[in-house]
Amino acid sequence: MAKTSKTSKKEKTKKIVPSTGTEESAVAAPAPGPEDSVEMTVRKKLTALYSLQAIDSKVDKIRIVRGELPLEVQDLEDEIAGLETRVEKINQEIEELETEVSNKKHAITDCLELIKKYEAQQMNVRNNREYDSLSKEIEYQSLEAQLCEKKIKEFNASIELKKETVKNVIEELEERKKDLEVKQSELEDIVAETKKEEENLNNKSATQKEQIDERLLSAYERIRENSRNGLGVVPVERDACGGCFNKIPPQRQLDIRLNKKIIVCEYCGRILVDDDIVKNVES
Ligand SMILES: [Zn+2]
Repeated sequence: MAKTSKTSKKEKTKKIVPSTGTEESAVAAPAPGPEDSVEMTVRKKLTALYSLQAIDSKVDKIRIVRGELPLEVQDLEDEIAGLETRVEKINQEIEELETEVSNKKHAITDCLELIKKYEAQQMNVRNNREYDSLSKEIEYQSLEAQLCEKKIKEFNASIELKKETVKNVIEELEERKKDLEVKQSELEDIVAETKKEEENLNNKSATQKEQIDERLLSAYERIRENSRNGLGVVPVERDACGGCFNKIPPQRQLDIRLNKKIIVCEYCGRILVDDDIVKNVES
């Protein structure tokens, strides 16, 4: 903390000092001395900030990779649960249809017994009227039995179809379960691999933050939070802002290279740095 306040105090003093006017003063990045120019001060700030961005971007990348896998695992788990429910539901429907088939079979047995009974009674009738009445009953029962047969056929066809469907759903389910196993072991590996790396980077990031004055740091963090790609400070790439890709006018690009003050993108508000700072940090 003490370091930060010292830096900002120094900056205030330095701002009063008139510029030396040397445009390319920042190219060689000489060792900082006690009498830093405005350009050197700005340059050092931007370099420190861009270094922080490089570290934070690495952490972001790790989190993105690790963040997508749990979602994929979750999606697969949801899909598997859905398929299992479907299998259960179809099996229940099959059971219900089998009960219906068995009911109809019983009904047919009842019809046949009645027919037998009526036929026996026909042997002992006293007149034609009784005989005809029994004939009608027999006809009715045999129609009833035929209807049951037809229903049984329909139910059985339906059962066959459902069994086929269940077979396909189970196949899909097995596939998804295999996918899930792969994803879960991938996730475990990645978490183990990256945990240590992330910790190291977080420590580095915290140390680097101590090099940057509070106002600049909070501006950087605010921009980072509001941007989808987590970039708070970006280089100029092909005459455009490396964050939002809007063109940067030549005069503004020149100002960025001059390092007289910190310049932000007029479209997205990201802090802009020149190629030399990028190379310096990346090397
Ligand atoms: Zn921009």
